[in-house]
Amino acid sequence: MPVEIVPVPALSDNYVWLMHDPVSDETVAVDPGEAPPVLAAAEARGWRITQVWNTHWHGDHVGGNAAIKAATGATITGPSEKGRIPTLDRVVEHGDRVRIGAHEGDVIAVGAHTAGHIAIHLPDEQIVFTGDTLFAMGCGRLFEGTPEDMFRAMAKLAALPGGTRVCCGHEYTIANGRFAVATEPGNMAARDALARAEQLRTEGRPTLPSTIAAERATNPFMRARDVEELAARRAAKDSFRG
Ligand SMILES: [Zn+2]
Repeated sequence: MPVEIVPVPALSDNYVWLMHDPVSDETVAVDPGEAPPVLAAAEARGWRITQVWNTHWHGDHVGGNAAIKAATGATITGPSEKGRIPTLDRVVEHGDRVRIGAHEGDVIAVGAHTAGHIAIHLPDEQIVFTGDTLFAMGCGRLFEGTPEDMFRAMAKLAALPGGTRVCCGHEYTIANGRFAVATEPGNMAARDALARAEQLRTEGRPTLPSTIAAERATNPFMRARDVEELAARRAAKDSFRG
């Protein structure tokens, strides 16, 4: 039986992903930047949060850890990030496995946005949680890593099966899509993806999850041919006002 995934809007433009396994009755909250909307969304579905997974240390991804743990007894798993996630019960690194019921997730090191950033890939469910590394048509800012680090991270994620659903940490798709179209004006897949995202947002719906195949076709950072091209695009995006 497949897991269910739900993006819960939090803070200004974050998504906290709830993943529920109906067989084990476990529920994971991924990157809870705050607790109240996440607890409410779980309760509305009759789900009890049993685990929290963090992708990196930023407050808008871990700020709800302590309150969720206090309310539910959930265990918290994430990367070391030099001790900057003080609520962790279990520290994981590249190659480690996490588990929800019978489903396993592989921890993939994708340091660049932060040095210790991880992604978590569940092969049998075709889901990857990418935090602030890979967004729909975008990538995270380089706060603690280099363009080369991000180029390597993009390559690792691009190598996942095309049908893998990309569950990222923010609703940035429209701004990213405008930059993607400006960067590759002839990319019809990016134009179509932007139009679809605008329609979904008009209807008040999330644009996510994306897929790895869609990102390979539309994402100017995943599509960068070398480190220099990614670096130039990242610098251009930092000052882009679409
Ligand atoms: Zn971040």
